[in-house]
Amino acid sequence: MSLLDVSSFAAGEWIAPGAGARNIASAVTGAPLAQAGNDALDVQAMLAYARDTGGSALRALTFHDRARMIKALATHLGQHKQALYDLSFETGATQSDHMIDIDGGIGTMFVFASKGRREMPDAKVYLDGEVEQLSRNGTFLGQHICTPLQGVAVHINAFNFPVWGMLEKLAPSLLAGVPAIVKPATATCYVTELAVRLMLDSGILPAGALQLVSGGLGDMLDHLTMQDVVSFTGSAQTALKLRQNPVILEHSIRFVAEQDSLNASILGPDAIPGTPEFDLFIKEVSREMTTKAGQKCTAVRRIITPESQSEAVIEALSARLAKTTIGDPRLESTRMGALVSNSQKRDVLEKAAILATEATPVYGNPDDFAVEGADAEKGAFVPPMLFHCENPDAASRVHDTEAFGPVSTVMGYRDLHHAVTLANRGEGSLVASCITNDPEVAREVALGSGAYHGRIYFNNRASMKESTGHGSPLPHMVHGGPGRAGGGEELGGIRGVKHYMQRTAIQGSPDILAAIGEQWVPGGSEVAAPAHPFTRKFGELAIGETLNSPSRQVTLEDIEHFAKFTGDTFYAHMDDAAAKRNPFFPGRVAHGYLLLSFAAGLFVEPNEGPVLANTGLDNLRFMKPVSAGDSIKVRLSVKKKTPRNDEYGEVRWHVTLTNQDDEKVAEYELLTMNAF
Ligand code: NDP
Repeated sequence: MSLLDVSSFAAGEWIAPGAGARNIASAVTGAPLAQAGNDALDVQAMLAYARDTGGSALRALTFHDRARMIKALATHLGQHKQALYDLSFETGATQSDHMIDIDGGIGTMFVFASKGRREMPDAKVYLDGEVEQLSRNGTFLGQHICTPLQGVAVHINAFNFPVWGMLEKLAPSLLAGVPAIVKPATATCYVTELAVRLMLDSGILPAGALQLVSGGLGDMLDHLTMQDVVSFTGSAQTALKLRQNPVILEHSIRFVAEQDSLNASILGPDAIPGTPEFDLFIKEVSREMTTKAGQKCTAVRRIITPESQSEAVIEALSARLAKTTIGDPRLESTRMGALVSNSQKRDVLEKAAILATEATPVYGNPDDFAVEGADAEKGAFVPPMLFHCENPDAASRVHDTEAFGPVSTVMGYRDLHHAVTLANRGEGSLVASCITNDPEVAREVALGSGAYHGRIYFNNRASMKESTGHGSPLPHMVHGGPGRAGGGEELGGIRGVKHYMQRTAIQGSPDILAAIGEQWVPGGSEVAAPAHPFTRKFGELAIGETLNSPSRQVTLEDIEHFAKFTGDTFYAHMDDAAAKRNPFFPGRVAHGYLLLSFAAGLFVEPNEGPVLANTGLDNLRFMKPVSAGDSIKVRLSVKKKTPRNDEYGEVRWHVTLTNQDDEKVAEYELLTMNAF
């Protein structure tokens, strides 16, 4: 059978394998399958193409434009996922593994596309936090902004998730406006290549936004600049080598690393056999051990149980692992496929032998296990292997050796403090979990262990039906961890996008800040409205366009009428003496909600027009009480506009109520949907 040629996509051209290409074998049969790599790849041309062509095209778009693009890419990949499934079996992955890698990757893109449109502006600058008042009179303000880096993101990925591993980094990079050069691990790069081809062929991306290196990266890292980012997933050893590159050190180039991790799962002291939590623990741990044949950066490597339950856990887990059918991943009956390669198999067996110096094997014999529909000698198959470490305090290798396969060690704890100490002996990991129905146990674990883990997953009878699993990084939540796990943070919603942007503190007058942030800033100039703003369509309204209403007096009859009409007869509105005893009020005062209603009456234009709906109100503050006899007036300014679809968009109005002495009585932001 001829070898599959896995090409690179460099500076707008597909480059077939050439001199220096590496051979790739099927995980299932061990037979040669593909070749990838070409020493002649012009890495400097790739970097220039990304920076000059891809970067400028992406930066010309708004966050919403890019979010729509990511959604279109995800939809397109979803339409072609069968081809990705078909090819992925060769990596040793089963259909349910594909759901994590391929569907999980596509799902991650959808989440970023949606968050980009909901949580980022339809603009080119992201405002990070609120305006800071830096001067007494508000003429000098501060605002943190994020703008896209003007370089390229080099994504170096691990072999275990050829699709998700790429897409979970690509979505935040593209949303930020930064082009990517993806370098998948050679062992599974044929699957990544197909996904890249699908995306490029769709024509959705601007030229230069995405390139691919199949095979070696050459000396690309030596040509990076301070506007570039390296996002790495793989072994701690490679991470250490790459992050020491003198160019990376000299130019303080961002290096986000996600590397080894000795993830722990703690069985709560309350979760004794017979409880739903005990069964849940066994299910979660065995799933984490066998999914992707344990080749998951988040897999449970250390099983931390009360000493009194270790035996019960070993028994129940062994019984469950015994039901794991190992074999050709294409067979429906197969629950666990092969490791990615025979060299990975050798590595896992070597690491298991290291664990065996401190722990007793209690389940799984790599020399004697059944494999369905495939040749156990030729394919990279291993059985699940469970160890028991009786003295985890004295042990060290069980806490620092990551056997990147279906291998895990049970260790007992005396009390919860001891459990937390053992979990932290991993010296930094991506995720720890705790299965408990006792909130106090959860609190102690979170406080004692939070500093050592990127994510802590709690599960029990209340959440088990909907929980996503110890091992699932979610696009909304941080993925990455301190110490041994690399110190990097990926994902985490819009936090993940910021890895590809620079945060800059902007200082200046309100109008300067408004122009940069594309939104009105308190103290900024008012733009006179040519007509009532409620008569103006979304596209016609200018940022800063302002309506100043006439004033209206608030009477005691108004307050009493409102109290009786709504039923809100709180003493501060009804009983002068009681109100006076309250340090906040001079006597009877108007209801805050009465003031809001009067404000609407003062600014609203009653006739049918472009304002379609009032969709909410944010950041409401009542600042000074209003008594009978006081007058109020309203200032309404267009703060920000966000298109929602082709027909309407959201207008955020800044509203200030003042009294007869021009003192602020209330302030809030009103949201309306306005027709285009
Ligand atoms: P590696 O660290 O060997 O490779 C990771 C990535 O780095 C691959 O894309 C690899 O490319 C690339 N790479 C390696 N050397 C260089 C270099 N000099 N310059 C540029 N890129 C380079 O990890 P593996 O994927 O081979 O996995 C090995 C071990 O790492 C596993 O057994 C496991 O212990 C750990 N691992 C941990 C993960 C985690 O997230 N916790 C995830 C995956 C692995 P190429 O394949 O072409 O060499």
